[in-house]
Amino acid sequence: MPATQVCEYVVLGVCEFSPTHSQTIDHVQMITRDGYPYAFDPTACRRCPGRCCNGESGVVRVTEEDAVAMAQVLAMPLEVFTARYLLVRGGELRVREIRDGHNYACALYDPARQGCSVYPARPRQCRTFPFWESARRNLAALIRECPGVVAGEGGSGRRSDGH
Ligand code: SF4
Repeated sequence: MPATQVCEYVVLGVCEFSPTHSQTIDHVQMITRDGYPYAFDPTACRRCPGRCCNGESGVVRVTEEDAVAMAQVLAMPLEVFTARYLLVRGGELRVREIRDGHNYACALYDPARQGCSVYPARPRQCRTFPFWESARRNLAALIRECPGVVAGEGGSGRRSDGH
């Protein structure tokens, strides 16, 4: 019987999902969610250059509370953080993007660390990835994008990256 590893996000207290929504596959505490035919391996983010923060242009919505928390993580006054990283579109507060050729990166993506610069305070939209309705509807694209996604009901199937 494989040893159970505790999800690092649960340890950090930032896991969006109940620990009861998880199961062990190959020594990794997978995250699952009712109604989604895949599981997520949170340890994949350590090996991934932040694909979900880069690529096609997208929208990351934030709340006022998110903005306050993210500014705190960066030890930045809220007005400075807001001016540098956020914009308002259609009455919504969003994170800016940085375009480089065909790539659009979240302005809060840190290329040096290949990860989110405000990870402990990332918006709910990012916390709940890859369990998005839009991602579930286009599972093939999700599997191509995120190496942490494991196809198969409840995560009991094969790994999407073939490992
Ligand atoms: S694409 Fe998937 S594995 Fe890569 S950082 Fe995003 S959630 Fe983690």
